[in-house]
Amino acid sequence: MSEASAPRPAAAIRPLPEPLISQIAAGEVVERPAAALRELLDNAIDAGARRITVRLQQGGLDLVAVEDDGCGISADQLGLALTRHATSKIASLDDLEQVRSLGFRGEALASIAAVAEVDIVSRSASLAAAAITANNGRIGPVTPAAGAPGTAVSVRRLFHEIPARRQFLKSAATEGGWCVEMVRRAALAHPGVAFQLWVDGRQTLNLAVDQDSAGLQRIADVLGKSFAQDALPLQQRIGPLEVRGLVCRPTAARPRADVQLFFVNRRWVRDRVLAHAVRAAYADLLHGALLPQYAVLLDLPPERVDVNVHPAKSEVRFRESQAVHHAVYTAIKQALAPALGARVAVATPAGAAPAASFVRPPSGVSAPSMPWQTGLPLTQQLATWAPLPTRELAGMPHVADGADADPAGRQPPPEHPLGHAMAQLHGVYVLAQNAAGLVVVDMHAAHERIVYERLKAAWSAQALASQPLLLPVAFEASGRELGAAEEHATTLSALGLDITPGGPTSLLVRAIPAMLGRADPVRLVRAVLAELAAVGSSRGVEERRNAVLASMACHGAIRANRQLTLAEMDALLRDMEATERSDQCNHGRPTWRQIDMDALDALFLRGR
Ligand code: ADP
Ligand code: MG
Repeated sequence: MSEASAPRPAAAIRPLPEPLISQIAAGEVVERPAAALRELLDNAIDAGARRITVRLQQGGLDLVAVEDDGCGISADQLGLALTRHATSKIASLDDLEQVRSLGFRGEALASIAAVAEVDIVSRSASLAAAAITANNGRIGPVTPAAGAPGTAVSVRRLFHEIPARRQFLKSAATEGGWCVEMVRRAALAHPGVAFQLWVDGRQTLNLAVDQDSAGLQRIADVLGKSFAQDALPLQQRIGPLEVRGLVCRPTAARPRADVQLFFVNRRWVRDRVLAHAVRAAYADLLHGALLPQYAVLLDLPPERVDVNVHPAKSEVRFRESQAVHHAVYTAIKQALAPALGARVAVATPAGAAPAASFVRPPSGVSAPSMPWQTGLPLTQQLATWAPLPTRELAGMPHVADGADADPAGRQPPPEHPLGHAMAQLHGVYVLAQNAAGLVVVDMHAAHERIVYERLKAAWSAQALASQPLLLPVAFEASGRELGAAEEHATTLSALGLDITPGGPTSLLVRAIPAMLGRADPVRLVRAVLAELAAVGSSRGVEERRNAVLASMACHGAIRANRQLTLAEMDALLRDMEATERSDQCNHGRPTWRQIDMDALDALFLRGR
């Protein structure tokens, strides 16, 4: 036995001293000047400030200061403001269920005061101003001071005394860039507040209160003329969900994610549901690697979103994420509708005049008269023909979105929304007939999505059955593959894969998931191993799992050029109808299109 693994004498367990607890917590709450700035801005906004002034020195490394004209803190409360878990914003678990303020944890100021030199001067209405200082956890007494109504907080030399943290700070230019970004985000979310920013003594931002109630002017001011020129406004209310903001025209998409901002109840967040909704809305409109630019603001009742899921409050969890997805998706789709019309025009065969007569720009995304339905969620499209349970699928019982308007006068609901298969085209597309006309399905993309959703469901139910191969297959494996097979043995077996070493440089595949019976076992295993080896631990568990399942789905899905019988094609259509999100493949491309009789008639200049 090596010395390292010899048992050590047990160390005594003792409670950590309070300053150390705050210093440890500080690592999560304020890992850099910009994070401290965000907390100070949040506090100023929570205090009802109408005017906020931010000063930075050396990118915030020397100084981050925020001055506001908010409600202030009275002298007898100043000490508490620097105490951990002391807050004026929530008092009970019920309050936590519906947080209306940006802060609520009561740990920002205490954390910052534990790892920097802080001074606060504050004056609440009609009372005299008072000051307090803290130096890396050593908190001074409250003293009388002079100051205007409101609060001024200065944070100097963040992490200066904590080398373990200080070493993670970047250059003043980089840290300063992040600080400026924080001010911009706060300004975008709060058009009713005036903002000033001073960087090393020079004023770099001066934003007056935006009089426009939707805050569009503020967005344009912050994000600049060139963004605003190519942007389309969002304005959508679905039940209790309101979506505002600006999104770029597809033609203004850029190779980099310069502006991709989400705000939920005026709080900047990163969120996968929202990001996906945007991607889906642009799915068929963007060229290759271009990325949409946007600032999307979502407002919803606070009890429908959990803000208490991230130490720096940068993530939220929606109680009804489907409904949120739907609202954002619909808002963007509607904003882009004219762009959509233009795109359809491209599909017009040359010389098929008068093109304009059939390429009607869609008036609304759920309009049943839309000639080509592009990439709408299947559930929503189906709602225009059949009384499908859009509401249940949207996950929110009282959301009215117009899609379930009285369908009087429309055709009786057909048996199957995607119709019946008629033929396969060049081994790639399935052609089907439904009441509205022609349905074209990209069979690999559609099947891949179905397999993917099934894999996810089976994985969640821990029921990914494995099926032994008649003959195990060996393959020469790289060091990376061998390593991944060993390191992720448990995951692999949970995925229904049975892989054992076949020798010093080879692996033996003994079983694959029953659901992927048709897949080439070696290719499948290699793809999974590559995915497992590649995924950084920075990605969330769910994201990593999905990446692996997606690559499995790709190998398990029917390949192009495979001849399908009509019965198999019909089965695929039925599976699509039954699968959520089957309107898009795992890469965001549409899996099927509807081409209405009107559109076909127009192609042939046939009056009806
Ligand atoms: P939280 O914001 O989560 O309550 P903080 O540590 O950020 O926790 O702040 C603690 C308390 O100090 C707040 O609840 C608030 O009462 C008070 N406070 C902090 N900053 C300000 C400010 N700029 N204006 C008025 N009160 C403030
Ligand atoms: Mg706070």
